[in-house]
Amino acid sequence: MRTGIQEELELYMSKSVAQASNREIYEALLLFVQKLAAGKERAAGKKKLYYISAEFLIGKLLSNNMINLGIYDEVKEMLFQNGKDICQIEEVEPEPSLGNGGLGRLAACFLDSIATLGLPGDGIGLNYHLGLFKQEFKDHLQKELPNPWIEKQSWLTKTDVVYPVSFRGLKVNARMYDIAVTGYHDQTNKLHLFDIDSVDEGIVEDGIHFDKEDIAKNLTLFLYPDDSDEKGRLLRIYQQYFMVSSAAQMILDECVQKGSTLYDLPDYAVIQINDTHPTMVIPELIRLLVERGLDIDEAIDVVSRTCAYTNHTILAEALEKWPIGYLKKVVPQLVPIIEILDDKVRRRFSDESTAIIDRNDTVHMAHIDIHYGFSVNGVAALHTDILKQSELNHFYKIYPDKFNNKTNGITFRRWLLHCNPRLTALLDETIKDEYKEDASKLVKLLEYKDDETVLKRLLEIKKENKKDLAAYLKETQAIEIDADTIFDIQVKRLHEYKRQQLNALYIIDKYLEIKEGILPKTPITAIFGAKAAPAYVIAKDIIHLILCLQEIINNDPEVSPYLKVVMVENYNVTKAEKLIPACDISEQISLASKEASGTGNMKFMLNGAVTLGTEDGANVEIHELVGDDNIFVFGASSDEVIEHYKKADYSAKDYYKKNPKIKAAVDFITEKQMMKIGCKESLERLQKELIGKDWFMTFLDFDAYKKAKDKALAAYTDQKEWAKKMLVNIAEAGYFSSDRTIEQYNRDIWKLTRS
Ligand SMILES: *Cc1c(COP(=O)(O)O)cnc(C)c1O
Repeated sequence: MRTGIQEELELYMSKSVAQASNREIYEALLLFVQKLAAGKERAAGKKKLYYISAEFLIGKLLSNNMINLGIYDEVKEMLFQNGKDICQIEEVEPEPSLGNGGLGRLAACFLDSIATLGLPGDGIGLNYHLGLFKQEFKDHLQKELPNPWIEKQSWLTKTDVVYPVSFRGLKVNARMYDIAVTGYHDQTNKLHLFDIDSVDEGIVEDGIHFDKEDIAKNLTLFLYPDDSDEKGRLLRIYQQYFMVSSAAQMILDECVQKGSTLYDLPDYAVIQINDTHPTMVIPELIRLLVERGLDIDEAIDVVSRTCAYTNHTILAEALEKWPIGYLKKVVPQLVPIIEILDDKVRRRFSDESTAIIDRNDTVHMAHIDIHYGFSVNGVAALHTDILKQSELNHFYKIYPDKFNNKTNGITFRRWLLHCNPRLTALLDETIKDEYKEDASKLVKLLEYKDDETVLKRLLEIKKENKKDLAAYLKETQAIEIDADTIFDIQVKRLHEYKRQQLNALYIIDKYLEIKEGILPKTPITAIFGAKAAPAYVIAKDIIHLILCLQEIINNDPEVSPYLKVVMVENYNVTKAEKLIPACDISEQISLASKEASGTGNMKFMLNGAVTLGTEDGANVEIHELVGDDNIFVFGASSDEVIEHYKKADYSAKDYYKKNPKIKAAVDFITEKQMMKIGCKESLERLQKELIGKDWFMTFLDFDAYKKAKDKALAAYTDQKEWAKKMLVNIAEAGYFSSDRTIEQYNRDIWKLTRS
């Protein structure tokens, strides 16, 4: 073994690795990795991609960077020789919580793949000092706390690049910070995060509350502040404009430096707009180009050939709309441009539903992207179909060629190599390591489908990973679970459409069955992890329900040998990396048509979990790949669900009245023992919501869910057959590598040349 790394670390620390603390080693490794990354080549080329996103849920970076730079094994071994454990060093690093969930995590996986494929492309976002909130449970309720992550030594590099950004009555300076994005092997790109020097963490009091009006102090404090009141919503416009104005200035500077006349901007830059949050980059670029001498029509034409838009949702309430009055208050300079954009649309199309500014003076951000971007993509085949056929059908009719699908993906460096070293080792032994560069090579594993040794190894690896998770949960939450039970896991943001409440009702039903003496063949450990938006009342009620069930069921000696419930606190990337390799059954039970893609489903599949899911998002593609025998699908189809909404014929109350199992489970929510430990108001509100509204049709699929889940649980008892299902899932997961997704974005949209 080379001693180089050890010597260099010891030089940084002025002491031996053996004598250094975990923190000292972490900080020395951080400096070492940053130096290595800085020495790598930057992907270059005439045309460059700018991936603008309000969220980059990057996770911890140390180990991922060491894997990509090819020094992980060497460092791990060197630490071991000195009596240190790399896992303990990893614990020291704080996780930057710069994203809510899937959308932000996708952006992070994409940066990894863009760098890995050697494409010239950087990310642009915001440097939220306190991130999203940190979740704690107290009295069976979610509490929100600030989540500071920036330490004296961090992955951020402060630059001298500063741009002025003007709001009405306020001018600030945007300073650029950089985080190196290492690709697997050669290339390094950058994530640029803009910030203001005057942010003041001292204005935060009592959880995550702060003065929403002191923009100079709060602009980059939190990700997506509470948007339930007008001041919170205004702050979000400040954040979005701050991000895109900085981005636009940076992009134009870089292009001019490379020789662009600005009339040829699309030859130098392509901008991917990740959901509608960065939409104002379109009018802002037009404004800046006019300032630099283009006439308005030329500017609009140039920008329209530079920007591409990714749609992430069809949930009506999530499609961003801003009253024009808000924009006038914050960014009046953009209003005349948006009015011109609207005017041009209205001259061409009489259909009011495609207007940018509607009759109520509300600006539809997605409409700006669709009219003035050259590409509109959905994130899974079914999602793109729904966009074309219903949700955005009126746009699809006007611009059929703009619409395209790019099924999401995940980076295997983080979601296999790093989080599941045992499975990685087995793959290296069996199919060799080609799959690390070309994920489609994973299918070679199918050759081992009848190899008893490999199947046995898969089961052993899963068991070891489950033991690791059990130990972690005991240490962090003092909860005891047994690796010989089935680990059934649903981890994702809490939202009614994702239907954690359906899973909870199943658990109540199972509890009641066990009380009657109907026992599951293999005991079940039901694991949840989810943050709810602070202002989303029903979502918090569902967390409350699960936490109350956890207390009652785990402390019932008649039931707990057969069923346990665990709600993991503060679900984030770090927790995901520990949960996913330990999962037997992956719960992907959204109401069909509502989950655009999902990426959690792909991570679980890759790690040998079997999906229990609806025909929604990328589940549909998982089903096609693994076949009927290796997935458990259930529930109403997206067409049926869309039809129910159209006819408004779904009545939760009818199901409640007619289905005794549903009635018993729903009644249990407010039973005496629940009310004794829980909050009466919260449990009653949730029960009332379910019976009286249930907008995401929980009861519609209850029977089908129970049947499919009981079937999956029964299938688990034949361990050899189960191991085959695991193997097929792993083998077919190659399609979901984000390297494949990025190849497609580049081939169809960006058209960058590899350096
Ligand atoms: C992958 C991931 C998500 C997305 O999960 P879905 O099940 O696709 O909603 C959310 N949060 C974290 C921390 C993740 O790693």
